[in-house]
Amino acid sequence: MKEAKYIWKNGNLIDWHNATTHILSHTLHYGNGVFEGTRAYMTKRGLAIFRLEEHTQRLMNSAKILLIQCPYSKEELKNAQIELLQANKTCFSDNVYIRPIIYLGYGAMGVYHLNSPVEVAIAAWEWGAYLGKEALNKGIRVKISSFVRNSVKSNMGKAKAVANYLNSQMAKHEAIASGFEEALLLDDNGFIAEGSGECFFIIRDQRLITPPYDNSLESITQNTVLTIANDLGIEVEQRRITRDEVYIADEAFFTGTAAEITPICEVDFRQIGNGRRGEITTTLQDEFFKIVMGENEKYNHFLTYIQ
Ligand SMILES: *Cc1c(COP(=O)(O)O)cnc(C)c1O
Repeated sequence: MKEAKYIWKNGNLIDWHNATTHILSHTLHYGNGVFEGTRAYMTKRGLAIFRLEEHTQRLMNSAKILLIQCPYSKEELKNAQIELLQANKTCFSDNVYIRPIIYLGYGAMGVYHLNSPVEVAIAAWEWGAYLGKEALNKGIRVKISSFVRNSVKSNMGKAKAVANYLNSQMAKHEAIASGFEEALLLDDNGFIAEGSGECFFIIRDQRLITPPYDNSLESITQNTVLTIANDLGIEVEQRRITRDEVYIADEAFFTGTAAEITPICEVDFRQIGNGRRGEITTTLQDEFFKIVMGENEKYNHFLTYIQ
């Protein structure tokens, strides 16, 4: 990992290597914590955070869902992320990933969590394409997981929760160990839910189809893609998808802040479309990268430039 100089913790910028936590931190044992993944792109006008407002709002929402009282306001956390990138500016020559986390620290043991102190930290480091640069062009091979996505009956997928990632991690491992690059998880009714950390799209007969938000995170990249599709006059359907429909899709791709727009060329040994990045996927990718790089004026309000 490419280290930076400072990490923001509880209101202060501290040295990267001093950003540690006690072994009896509550989150480490009982798994209640929330985080975000936000990107800052190295545009022609310098580093710019993409959709800072929406990511920070989702962080606050995640904390609310899981009964974690965040001691900072949304504005304070937005400013903290800006301040952190400014302080680390000399460490960055390419795109940056920002990882805020709200977790429960050292103070009380036992499952009941309201007696533990709430800690807030933000790290940022230079991070390229999550699934590899080649994946953005060539696409990846995907396996439908034997792990079902956390059921809404017992987990809360609208929170970007630390605990939800156990399910993601097992699915991801299974996919990698089986020779694939990413997992696609079904929900407990057998419909497509999402990837281990990405939302999912298919294209059939020129129409863009993505599952409803009932078994996935409310993804900001998914929202950006739907916005782009709308601008381009591409028809959009947000509805349930079954695995056999995926097999006969013309194109498929994943979206996420980390994965950006990653084409899928194969699912469960079935080639998707012509086995290469599809035409509509390419168009959406091009528009997406224009927006995040500040080359589409209409969406300048999505960018927070770091001075
Ligand atoms: C973060 C995440 C995504 C992607 O959301 P974005 O807002 O696009 O970054 C999708 N699914 C899960 C489970 C996630 O944690």
